[in-house]
Amino acid sequence: MTRTSIAEVKCEKCKTIYEAEVIDHVDLSEDREIVKALKTGKANRVQCSKCKKVMYLDRSIVVNFDPESLIVVYDPNARTKAQKEVLEQEYHNVITFNEILQEVGEETEFTVLSDLSKLKELLDEYTKAHS
Ligand SMILES: [Zn+2]
Repeated sequence: MTRTSIAEVKCEKCKTIYEAEVIDHVDLSEDREIVKALKTGKANRVQCSKCKKVMYLDRSIVVNFDPESLIVVYDPNARTKAQKEVLEQEYHNVITFNEILQEVGEETEFTVLSDLSKLKELLDEYTKAHS
């Protein structure tokens, strides 16, 4: 399931603030179409309602590599070890409060990536293994 939410975006051209639907979570076993956009860092495409300027947001996306036991948080802004640790901690906090997730969490590898080329590598491997 691809989960989306509504985010406030500020147009870099005309400075208008508008709301856009953004992707938070992608499940590759159910949505293969998005792989191409993910690989180029363009999964979150938004367009200004006023001047039509297109932007690609560099917000974080959770990618579930199901049926591989791998969950990747791709966050282009998590460049430091400390930032990555915060995201890992958040993940562990979430699964600790949910029994089902806790079971899944114990068997699932969880990785935070800020490097698009590494995400691309994983996506290529996944596509090859599950085509
Ligand atoms: Zn604009």
